Amino acid sequence: MAFEALSQKLDAIFKKLRGKGKLSESDVKEAMREIRLALLEADVNYKVVKDFISKVTERAIGHEVMESLTPGQQVIKIVYDELTNLMGSKETKLNLKGNPAVIMLVGLQGSGKTTTAGKLGNYLSKMGRRPLLVAADIYRPAAIKQLHVVGDKVKVPVFSMGERKPVEIARASVEHAFRHGNDVIILDTAGRLHIDEELMEELKEIKSAVDPCEILLVVDSMTGQDAVNVAESFHSKLELTGLILTKLDGDTRGGAALSIKAVTGCPIKFVGMGEKLDDLEQFYPDRMASRILG
Ligand code: GDP
Repeated sequence: MAFEALSQKLDAIFKKLRGKGKLSESDVKEAMREIRLALLEADVNYKVVKDFISKVTERAIGHEVMESLTPGQQVIKIVYDELTNLMGSKETKLNLKGNPAVIMLVGLQGSGKTTTAGKLGNYLSKMGRRPLLVAADIYRPAAIKQLHVVGDKVKVPVFSMGERKPVEIARASVEHAFRHGNDVIILDTAGRLHIDEELMEELKEIKSAVDPCEILLVVDSMTGQDAVNVAESFHSKLELTGLILTKLDGDTRGGAALSIKAVTGCPIKFVGMGEKLDDLEQFYPDRMASRILG
C-alpha cells in the first residue's frame, strides 16, 4: 500500500507527541529527529528532508504552539501543512489548450507509459472529451499493439502508422484528429531503458512539430530517487509541464512522491494507483498528506 511504512512510523511518533501534555523544546527536537529518520528511510531526498525539518522545527518551537493546550496536535498539524507544501500545496489542473490539445507522454520503458496513455484516454472521455491515442513508439512493435489493446478496452480510438518517423506520425495525428473531431491527442512516445541523446532529440523534434500544451513525464514511483533523477534530466531537456507518478499503490515508502516536486519544480498532476485502466487519480497534495498521516 502507498506510504504504508512511512505512515506507520509517523503514527508511532505522533502517538508519543499526543500523549504528552506540555511539550518542551527537547521533546520537539526529539520528535524532529525521529521524523527526519522516517523520511530518510522512506527514501526522501536528503536535502528535501533537511529543509522540511528546519521549516517544521521553526514553526513548532514557536510561542503559539508551545503555549497551546494541545501542543502535540499543533505539531502534527504543522507536519501535515508542510507535507502538503512539499508536494505542491494545491492541485495543478491539466492544461487542455488547443484544438486538438496535444498531450505528449514521455518516460522510460517500463515506467507504465502505455498503460497511463490508456488511463488518461479513459479519464478524458469520462470528462466528455473526445481523445485520440497516438502510437509514436515505433521501436517496440509490441508497444503499438499494446496501445491498440488498451484503446479498445477504454473505447478510445488509436491512431498508428506502423514504423514511420515518430515526428511524421505526430504531425499526421493532429491532422487526423482535426478531421475526425478528436479534441485531445495523447501521444505515446518511445521510451528507452536509459536516457540517451537520440531519444531526447526525437522528443524535442516532436515537441517543436506539434506544440504540445502538456509534456508529462510518466515515472515509476517504486524507483524512488532514481525517479527524481530521471525527472530532472527530462525536465532539463524538454521543459516538462508535469509528472505522472505510476505504481504508487505498491510504493510503501513514497520517497519519489515526496521529493519530486521539491527537487524539480514540476507538479505531480496524476498518480497511478493500480494496473486497471481506471486506476488513475488526479493528484491533490493535501489529500495525499492526509493519506500519509492516516
Ligand atoms: P511502458 O513500457 O512504459 O509503456 O509500460 P507499461 O504501460 O507496459 O507498464 C509496465 C507495467 O507496469 C505493466 O505491467 C503495467 O500493468 C504496470 N503498471 C502501470 N501503471 C501501474 C500502476 O499505477 N500500478 C501498478 N501496480 N502497476 C502499473
